[in-house]
Amino acid sequence: MTNIVNQTLILGGGFTGLFTALYLSNQHYPRSVILIDREERFSFKPLLYEYCTGEMSAEEVCPSYEELLKDSGVVFIQDSVESIDIQQKEVKLTSGSYKYSNLVLGLGSITSYAGVEGAKEYSLPLRTATEVQAIERQLHDRLQQARQTRDTEQRHQLLTFVVVGGGPSGVEMTCTLADLLPHWYEALGGNSHEIRVVLLNHGEQILEGDVNVNLRGTALQAMLKRAVPVELLFGAKVSAVRADAVEYTRNEKSEIILASTVIWTAGTTINPLIKDLPVPKEHRDHHGRLQVTPTLQLLDYPEVFAAGDCAVQQGGESLPATAQVAYQQAAAIAHNLKSLILGHQLKPSEVHLRGTLMKLGIEESVANIFDRYQVLGRNGHLIRQATYLEMLPSLPHDFKVTKEWLKDEVFDRYLNSEEGKQTVRTTTEVVGGVVIGALIARKLLQNKGIDTHSG
Ligand SMILES: Cc1cc2nc3c(=O)[nH]c(=O)nc-3n(C[C@H](O)[C@H](O)[C@H](O)COP(=O)(O)OP(=O)(O)OC[C@H]3O[C@@H](n4cnc5c(N)ncnc54)[C@H](O)[C@@H]3O)c2cc1C
Repeated sequence: MTNIVNQTLILGGGFTGLFTALYLSNQHYPRSVILIDREERFSFKPLLYEYCTGEMSAEEVCPSYEELLKDSGVVFIQDSVESIDIQQKEVKLTSGSYKYSNLVLGLGSITSYAGVEGAKEYSLPLRTATEVQAIERQLHDRLQQARQTRDTEQRHQLLTFVVVGGGPSGVEMTCTLADLLPHWYEALGGNSHEIRVVLLNHGEQILEGDVNVNLRGTALQAMLKRAVPVELLFGAKVSAVRADAVEYTRNEKSEIILASTVIWTAGTTINPLIKDLPVPKEHRDHHGRLQVTPTLQLLDYPEVFAAGDCAVQQGGESLPATAQVAYQQAAAIAHNLKSLILGHQLKPSEVHLRGTLMKLGIEESVANIFDRYQVLGRNGHLIRQATYLEMLPSLPHDFKVTKEWLKDEVFDRYLNSEEGKQTVRTTTEVVGGVVIGALIARKLLQNKGIDTHSG
């Protein structure tokens, strides 16, 4: 246990926590900074699908905190936060307790199973790199088992993959699976037409109430055009998940799909640590998220900052729970932490929403620019990649990934292909054009006060 109070603790190394730490390091924050996360690696969540498909490696999508924070001066502790005492300014971890002078809450949200019987036990959540590894293992196992069984009914069950939830993660995951699984199964010598990918959604529409709602038509079309078309089941309320089936009610009738794999993207809820804080109901929103001032401080505890999925700005516009919001808020928290020490005035956080990006299959995405232009297909994919590459946490890491991606994209794929050098030139132009275009657009828009990272 340490009793040093002159230190800033950051709880959670996600988009809020990690970026706050990096910004503090960048601006030579004079106090010691400790970042705590239970995972060894940061999860760049928008790219988890690429990690699942093998399009990008673990090193690219989930770099270790040790690597990211090397030479930053930030101390990283891999441990679970057990409790937070905001009155005593003390945080209890499994390995001991830490006092703080300032605290940053970036604990995000957790998967909610909404009390559905068997959902926690038998479905696979999709929020972290570790969970994606579990999904990937299960997909491979089921395809292998399907190849080995002679029982037709059992094979159909093994080859049925259900994704619960028609939000952006559900849509992106079904599109990815519907391209990926036929490809993997064919490589095992299986008949890819036997694969079923089902999106099961309680609502009558996908992307309801989401920032991507304007992409609904595009996403629906893309789902039908995958290597196996995605089957859509709307108005279906899941009542139970079993080891080999999903039960649901639809039009007041109970129905069942025999499926050995169920991926759960149907809901999130607040982190229990946030729920347990002694913050009154009237200082939270109806989801239990903490209300913060425009400068991102808790209303009754100005030494505590909170942002991202666990916080909501009091009286401000309602911001979506996205990486692009958390990442921009991190910059404001870092600025304000330093201002507190220097005795400068704190500045309100400003978040600019800049269109959205969605993965709609392997090497296919849609870039929704300012809700006015949609760039689809492979060009959309290149814009999405370029945008996220630019957003990756640290320069050395960013540079490495960019280099590897360009090498994959331009040289390995095209130079070795039949199409030869002509394609290389075209691809280099396209890739270069998109990357440079994205960067130039960003600069221009920043000059106009508009930020251009997408979510
Ligand atoms: C599959 C998926 C795809 C997404 N795609 C996009 C996208 O394309 N664009 C976009 O803008 N947003 C996307 N999001 C949303 C985005 O990732 C979140 O809004 C963002 O990560 C929120 O940042 P945060 O810092 O609040 O929380 P997080 O990034 O979730 O970080 C919370 C951190 O706290 C740690 N933690 C939690 N509890 C404890 C504990 N008890 N002890 C120690 N550590 C703990 C966790 O390990 C985690 O690292 C996606 C989310 C998912 C799940």
